[in-house]
Amino acid sequence: MERTIIDRYGRVHNYLRISLTDNCNLRCFYCMPEEEYHFTPAPQLMQTDEIEELAKIFVSLGVNKIRLTGGEPLVRKDADKIILSLSKLPVKLTLTTNGSRLHEFVDVLKEANIRSLNISLDTLQSEKFQLITRRDQFQKVYDNIQLLLKKNFHVKVNMVVMNGLNDNEINDFVEWTKDQPVHVRFIEFMPFTGNRWTSNKVFTMQQMLDVIKEKYEVVRLQDEKHDTAKGYKVPGHQGTFSVISTMSDNFCGNCNRMRLTADGKMKNCLFSKEDTDLLSALRNGEDVAPLIY
Ligand code: SAM
Ligand code: SF4
Repeated sequence: MERTIIDRYGRVHNYLRISLTDNCNLRCFYCMPEEEYHFTPAPQLMQTDEIEELAKIFVSLGVNKIRLTGGEPLVRKDADKIILSLSKLPVKLTLTTNGSRLHEFVDVLKEANIRSLNISLDTLQSEKFQLITRRDQFQKVYDNIQLLLKKNFHVKVNMVVMNGLNDNEINDFVEWTKDQPVHVRFIEFMPFTGNRWTSNKVFTMQQMLDVIKEKYEVVRLQDEKHDTAKGYKVPGHQGTFSVISTMSDNFCGNCNRMRLTADGKMKNCLFSKEDTDLLSALRNGEDVAPLIY
């Protein structure tokens, strides 16, 4: 019998995000503290074979889409092995990355049949990039986006829009879609404890659309099922853009995602404090599947 994971709200969960590490080579101010940060020690992280084993259990329960994320997934030394092992499962495999190491992974991505991925880039200005990420990596990330476009990958660029910081670049990103097939995703800034969040940094989806519509004529694209992004296109442009309203109009009722943290804990929601320790269960030889559904 085919299994599916249906939660108490009647939502079917077929999409799993796996965090490969909580470590990262950037220090985006809204995501990580600048000071020395204590990352999860390696033995506590899921190992390559454990990731594969847990992923297989999720697949047996109906998961058909897996996104690798982090921290920065590509700073893990065995990221290539993990990508290749998961690519053998019957899932649509993709990843979200800060892009700085992508040049080392082009062949692996091709071998794993990953044709579409999300790359985070909040600004097109090198100095501002350094201000946001506390690292001097703008050119590397930008060049890697160009490299992937040249190799015909479907590139989605995640831009977190922050009031007074990069909201004045929204239309520069829309302009980028004119001559290149990039798919920009404007994301509302979200509160997390410790990210120095203040609500005055939120720039809402409606504000983004107002800015764009002042300059461009836009058409709304058809939503894909469970897509949290509302898509648009400027007629004649090669790429598209979308807006993601995490704050002003959340989409929890439509959510089909589960998360597996780098130390093997399952969470149903980014904002959830509750988790289930699947890795310990796996290491203790327990039956993991009943802990998931
Ligand atoms: N390191 C990878 C990257 O930056 O793409 C993957 C992990 S990162 C946590 C995933 C995405 O979450 C990135 O696009 C990042 O910009 C976004 N993000 C992180 N903190 C955020 C916040 N406070 N509000 C909105 N988006 C956030
Ligand atoms: Fe966080 Fe990703 Fe920035 Fe790293 S690159 S600090 S994981 S948002």
